[in-house]
Amino acid sequence: MQQYDLAIIGGGINGCGIARDAAGRGLSVLVAEAGDLAGATSSASTKLIHGGLRYLEYYEFRLVAEALAEREALLRIAPHIIWPLEFVLPHESHLRPAWMIRMGLFFYDHLGRRAFGLGGSASTLPASRGVRLAPDGYGKGLNPGFTRGFAYYDCWVDDARLVVLNARSAAARGARIATRTRVTAARRDGEHWHVTLATANGTQREEVSARALVNAAGPWVKSVLDREIGIASPGKVRLVRGSHMVVPRIHDRRHAFILQNPDRRIVFMIPYEREFTLIGTTDVAMDEDPSQTRASQAEIDYLCNAASHYTERRLTPRDVVWSYSGVRPLYDDGSDDPSAVTRDYHLLLDEDGPPLVSIFGGKITTYRRLAEHVMKKLETWFPDTHAWTATESLPGGDFGDATAKAGFDALFDDLCGRYPRLPGLLLARLARRHGTLARALLGDAQGETDLGEYFGGGLYEAEVRWFINHEWAREAEDVLWRRTKCGLHMSAVERESFAAWMLRNV
Ligand SMILES: Cc1cc2nc3c(=O)[nH]c(=O)nc-3n(C[C@H](O)[C@H](O)[C@H](O)COP(=O)(O)OP(=O)(O)OC[C@H]3O[C@@H](n4cnc5c(N)ncnc54)[C@H](O)[C@@H]3O)c2cc1C
Repeated sequence: MQQYDLAIIGGGINGCGIARDAAGRGLSVLVAEAGDLAGATSSASTKLIHGGLRYLEYYEFRLVAEALAEREALLRIAPHIIWPLEFVLPHESHLRPAWMIRMGLFFYDHLGRRAFGLGGSASTLPASRGVRLAPDGYGKGLNPGFTRGFAYYDCWVDDARLVVLNARSAAARGARIATRTRVTAARRDGEHWHVTLATANGTQREEVSARALVNAAGPWVKSVLDREIGIASPGKVRLVRGSHMVVPRIHDRRHAFILQNPDRRIVFMIPYEREFTLIGTTDVAMDEDPSQTRASQAEIDYLCNAASHYTERRLTPRDVVWSYSGVRPLYDDGSDDPSAVTRDYHLLLDEDGPPLVSIFGGKITTYRRLAEHVMKKLETWFPDTHAWTATESLPGGDFGDATAKAGFDALFDDLCGRYPRLPGLLLARLARRHGTLARALLGDAQGETDLGEYFGGGLYEAEVRWFINHEWAREAEDVLWRRTKCGLHMSAVERESFAAWMLRNV
């Protein structure tokens, strides 16, 4: 029977982040993921690396400070898939007075700098300020009635790629990443966990043992505890669905909007994939099976109404070209309002035998710190290891000392110089998805014909083979909606013929 130091249930951001951290400390690690990496919540987020301005209203200072510090750390280690994004908040005095917003932004700026512990100069993002919403400037695309606003910075992330890059980094340090592999049982057996794995179609079973077990099953954390592990846990999870919709681009500027609503919730409107705008999210308490989640008509109507209050042109469900939905596995703090339930994470350690750590809640933004905290919980069993992930680049993110923008521009220029016959848009997309690894992916390609079959939407066979060989892609969905968002740029016929190609070639 294969033996590991650490077995991790779940290949979302938390499972893969912990795997990377643990493998880099010299532990032998297994990640078992029932579906595809980032197949659940971790590809369905708003895709922000942010402190969470609105959490200040709920006095979540610890979470906001940690998340703001993480913005800087993550920008440094993954500058190809994470970049600064300016947010504009149109002012509506009857919803929140200007003094309240100024105070919130002051805290946000200040906590960001303090949290990083370097007295102000360390934050690479500009401070917040008041702005005029001129129709050809920050107000572009908005109803001209909005004339004043506030601007501040957070960061954008390709969430699904962040998960895959953590998995790659873990694998490079010896971890086994077993996708489409479900943990069907885990029992304590003396000093070890005895874990049963089954392939997705249930045809193959494998027994492994591990010195410690981490339950990073996201929305399934509680059901895995109840069913697969068989331990009644004191931790409770609140499942809150959040949906997003994608519409044709609302304005041609780079900034995003943060919109206030009469119900006090906020909705983001973010430039997406060049041609689109991403709008979300909702907060709907739910108790159905998290794997069946999808945006309801009521949520689409809510998002259309919330955005249309601000946009120059009214949005209707007919504008929606794509929508997606995810389930937040929040730690149940007893709040009645789904928007008010804490977004902070809770780690429950069960040490009644070999240790088990279960993860409740959390954010993409704080995954790296969460992983460090998990390793801290396990230090009795794995002593003398050190935190290391804050400074070590994720695959493709080694831009040296350059800022994210300068590093990216230099990489893009280098690719244009090396591959003068490949389209600039393709090189920019590859640089974003793969960072410095784009060179290895392209090899000695001279022109587009060297990249193999073209599937539409900017997707070539050479990149797909890279996803299959290096990033655990097995099905069309893995490539079209998680390793890339090419699905959004392809026609239904192109998507179908790509799915047929995957069936023939994987
Ligand atoms: C709508 C929405 C918007 C959000 N926006 C943001 C944001 O902008 N910024 C931010 O920082 N955070 C955001 N979040 C929060 C963030 O997305 C989540 O906290 C995070 O993705 C949770 O990751 P996870 O690894 O815990 O769970 P998941 O990504 O759900 O991973 C759990 C995995 O466990 C697997 N699994 C379950 N049972 C088993 C089993 N028995 N065997 C093997 N595998 C199993 C599942 O298949 C799944 O892939 C958002 C969340 C939502 C829903």
